[in-house]
Amino acid sequence: MFPLVNTAPRQRPHNRPMASPESRKALPVIDPARCTGCGWCVGVCPPRVLSLHAVPDWQKKSHLDDAAGCTGCARCAVRCPFDAIAMRRIPDPPPGC
Ligand code: SF4
Ligand code: SF4
Repeated sequence: MFPLVNTAPRQRPHNRPMASPESRKALPVIDPARCTGCGWCVGVCPPRVLSLHAVPDWQKKSHLDDAAGCTGCARCAVRCPFDAIAMRRIPDPPPGC
């Protein structure tokens, strides 16, 4: 008789080890014209390098505060409901660097 439930350990996103900033391949670019300041991207960023900044007209916009601490995981871009974040690839360093 086979078990009816899958007993294999589950690999959930929050159980995965965090990527390191050194291994990132891309950085998020936030389009302020599309950003509504909802804050979803801020909430899902594991290293907490995004925050909302106040702009004129009592609005808030997402901002990447610490590019060096970003792991390039793209969770912010995936979560943004307004398609305001694009991941821009970082050029590979020349060989020998
Ligand atoms: S999830 Fe998108 S719209 Fe919301 S604050 Fe972040 S970039 Fe702006
Ligand atoms: S890609 Fe986005 S969610 Fe991932 S670390 Fe960088 S800012 Fe945070």
